[in-house]
Amino acid sequence: MPTSLVCGGAGYIGSHMVRSLLEEGERVVVLDNLSTGRRDFVPAEALFIQGDVRDGELLDRLLPQHDVNAVFLFASLIKVGESVSLPLAYYENNFVGALRVVESMVRSRTPHFIFSSSAAVYGEPEAVPITEDMPLRPTNPYGETKLAVEQMLRWASEAHGFTYGALRYFNACGAIEDATLGEVQEPETHLIPLVLDAAIGEKESISVFGDDYDTPDGTCVRDYIHVMDLARAHLLTLDALRRGGGSKIYNLGNGRGFSVEEVIDACRSVTGLPIKVVRAPRRAGDPARLIASSDRARQELGWTPHYQSLESIVETSWRWHRKRRGGRTA
Ligand code: UDP
Repeated sequence: MPTSLVCGGAGYIGSHMVRSLLEEGERVVVLDNLSTGRRDFVPAEALFIQGDVRDGELLDRLLPQHDVNAVFLFASLIKVGESVSLPLAYYENNFVGALRVVESMVRSRTPHFIFSSSAAVYGEPEAVPITEDMPLRPTNPYGETKLAVEQMLRWASEAHGFTYGALRYFNACGAIEDATLGEVQEPETHLIPLVLDAAIGEKESISVFGDDYDTPDGTCVRDYIHVMDLARAHLLTLDALRRGGGSKIYNLGNGRGFSVEEVIDACRSVTGLPIKVVRAPRRAGDPARLIASSDRARQELGWTPHYQSLESIVETSWRWHRKRRGGRTA
């Protein structure tokens, strides 16, 4: 079987990807600097190397040594607010990191690259659902770095003859069914883990950032997509690249929007616990509605997300969350 190098394979989405690749029989090498990833997220079946994607010399050794056929790049800084105050750190990690990986791939003639892009490349959309050909106008440095990498990939792939998939994730969430992996951020910023913390008593309440948006209940609407559905879309993309298809750009979402209020209600129903809500001001830079059209991925890859309801997603998050927080339920 061919070998994939998963950069950031000890992180949230990367570790789910590693599991999915191993299940397909792929050989997997994980490169992670453990700045946010967890060593215990990497199973023994994968070879783990602690190192940084910006280390070109390390990459120049790894790619030929393991005869790597495809590189996945999950390693990335992901906090939108932080990117506004620390833009250079985002360009350094997200853009320079991708550049170093692609340079090394070109030197070693690695044929395929799969990039974790983001719905943040669209900024405030003029309409929903968002299709891949809509204007790309990021509203923060995080989204800018993702777009800059996509643009670099377009030109570099044409000049140097590799193919790539740029996968624009909407709101990644959920956890693997056996609850051995899941979302961990310190400090936590994502909605579902924070709501579950309020359910479990780790936090007193959940703050709802803005209730006067132009949406049915006034709170922001997002498209929540399960991390294992994301992983499967990556497998299908890799398969398409290996079969000789050209480079691909796909939105990955469920195609349905849920408001912050609806997410909190789903968490109440799944946990059976009361969740205290506090109204808070809008968070800077939050678009009112982000909903994907994933028609392209559905049609071209035959991808259908398995987890369609919010409850089915939250159930998996809850299983992981209880384990992470030491089995407490209130
Ligand atoms: N949100 C919220 N309270 C929180 C965290 C998030 O109301 O404590 C809202 C946030 O404003 C956004 C939605 O929940 O509308 C999803 O936010 P998250 O940070 O999970 O993902 P994002 O959409 O920013 O990628």
